[in-house]
Amino acid sequence: MLCFTHRDTQALGVCKTCGKAVCSACLRQVEGGIVCSEACENEHRLMREMNHRAFKIYGIGTKQRGLPNTVIAPLLMGTGFALGAALLGVTDEHNMPIVLFFLLMSSLMWLGAFLAWRKYRENGINV
Ligand SMILES: [Zn+2]
Ligand SMILES: [Zn+2]
Repeated sequence: MLCFTHRDTQALGVCKTCGKAVCSACLRQVEGGIVCSEACENEHRLMREMNHRAFKIYGIGTKQRGLPNTVIAPLLMGTGFALGAALLGVTDEHNMPIVLFFLLMSSLMWLGAFLAWRKYRENGINV
């Protein structure tokens, strides 16, 4: 394979962006490969940036899978309070004020978990 620009020179590879063969005199090294010109270098960088964003949006790669602790922790605590309220309510009806307090705490925790989840979802798309 010969260089696209220098027809008498052996090419070392092909441009990542446009696919032209490039020799050592005209190649430009970029992250993840080589390109032939400044225009191709810019486009290559743009494509990489877009890929990174797409990866983040669709949850591929570095982004952690599953829900973050800011969602799981209040969710678990809210469930704990709800279970506690149910348990206290069943064992002794005089516990009513505590049961109500536990139910209130549980709703607050779940609300917190929901808000954190919504924020997490928004961040996932806005990166
Ligand atoms: Zn090129
Ligand atoms: Zn060349």
